[in-house]
Amino acid sequence: MILYNGNNSPARQESDIMHEVAHILRGHKGDCLQLNADISLRVHNEDHEQEAKWLGATLQIPEEGILRHVCAGRTSEEIAAIYGASVQMANYRRRILGIDIRAARRKRF
Ligand SMILES: [Zn+2]
Repeated sequence: MILYNGNNSPARQESDIMHEVAHILRGHKGDCLQLNADISLRVHNEDHEQEAKWLGATLQIPEEGILRHVCAGRTSEEIAAIYGASVQMANYRRRILGIDIRAARRKRF
């Protein structure tokens, strides 16, 4: 069972759900309470949290997808809308994956 806050933005809800799906896919046991939760943070395994953060973001905005969208000239706002993500998540994925540098290299060839 995945619990999420229905009062958060749809993009935040999707991010939270993808994070929890990542825990399930990786077979992590136990509960996970997000940093933005109203209740105090209880992280049972920091390695699992980092893995779920990375995989959750990957599930929300896949690497090849964002690369293709950036190569096609789409903005972070457009990419966020396509994936139901926040602009902050789109910018995070662009930065952490080096998407803009990779897109610029593709344009040269
Ligand atoms: Zn977690």
